[in-house]
Amino acid sequence: VDVMDTIESNNYNIYFQNSLSELASFVEKGGYSRFFILTDENTAKYCLPLLRERLGDPDNFDIIEVNAGEESKDIDFCIGVWKMLIDFGADRQSLLINLGGGVISDLGGFAASTFKRGIDFVHVPTTLLSQVDASVGGKTGIDINSIKNIIGTFTQPKAVFIEGEFLKTLPSRQILSGTAEMLKHGLICDAEYWNQLKQSDLTTPADWMVYRSVAIKNAVVLEDPNEKNIRKSLNFGHTIGHAVETYSLINDKDSLSHGEAIAIGMICEAYLSHKKSSLSAEELTEITQVLMNLYPRYNLKTADNTTLIDYMLKDKKNQNGKINCTLLSKIGQFNIDNICTEEELIEGLNYYANL
Ligand code: NAD
Ligand code: ZN
Repeated sequence: VDVMDTIESNNYNIYFQNSLSELASFVEKGGYSRFFILTDENTAKYCLPLLRERLGDPDNFDIIEVNAGEESKDIDFCIGVWKMLIDFGADRQSLLINLGGGVISDLGGFAASTFKRGIDFVHVPTTLLSQVDASVGGKTGIDINSIKNIIGTFTQPKAVFIEGEFLKTLPSRQILSGTAEMLKHGLICDAEYWNQLKQSDLTTPADWMVYRSVAIKNAVVLEDPNEKNIRKSLNFGHTIGHAVETYSLINDKDSLSHGEAIAIGMICEAYLSHKKSSLSAEELTEITQVLMNLYPRYNLKTADNTTLIDYMLKDKKNQNGKINCTLLSKIGQFNIDNICTEEELIEGLNYYANL
């Protein structure tokens, strides 16, 4: 990919080139009455100065800041955002600019999509995960009692502005969290991309990789915005991965990042792809090695398998109480709606545990 053209999504654009200048002209020409920037502590410190500078240090902007981390994807923080909007006098012609990672885009998108029955919002994603995943596709949401994304809406942003500069202050562990989704994009629908990624230094992903991942995710969600069929391909690694993530959130002081959990999920589900679909033994070994080299080993105890299965049963992706996985028929090709039995899922978990 030489030219990173603007990507057209569901009635909105995803900008790559000079994206912050594009934001400045969007702000100028959009016909909005007021502007609000949602940040967390870190993006207020590391990302807001550049944004302010590119917008010409405007004075008709109000800043709403929440704590950093998943705890902010909570109804109390959401009420806080709504109240700030009310206190600042936001009307229906206001624009909310979500400056941050997936927590900010999910929380801000949800708060905006419900405030006065919906005001416009745009995303300026500042983590790799939010650039290649969370800011594309129109899902917004908050958690309740550690149940992730249990309340939310499908609402598209008015635009997304992707700026590579922001990744320079992102800790390496957060970079690798996003890399897991990029590897997933290759595994589900682009073997050539997977091959390029596995030979690259993924601790500093190049712009073209971000672009290619966004193009893949966008193509998938455009074809199936409401997750009736092919959008489920993006769930590869996530049936088991989400359960491991929830488990770690509850049990570990230093819990797994989303990508670390999804990497584990992808290894287990690659095993199931070999067992239940046509992924070859060589491909399973390749996927396992690439992911084990990138991500730290996590101690999965057999005694916790039933807890993990329990989390999988509570997953909102299930239908009729059956646990569903997206599997690979080969590298670069997926098949959706594979019902997996508890025994099979435990076998997948044990494959990882015994590596
Ligand atoms: P995050 O927003 O919590 O960001 C991770 C950390 O990086 C935070 O501490 C944040 O303050 C910090 N940070 C952000 N930008 C920074 C920068 N440029 N420099 C330094 N630090 C920075 O989490 P995330 O990993 O970006 O996203 C995870 C969330 O995204 C989860 O809640 C997940 O459910 C959601 N998500 C949503 C979708 C979707 O389709 N809506 C898809 C994937 C993930
Ligand atoms: Zn994910």
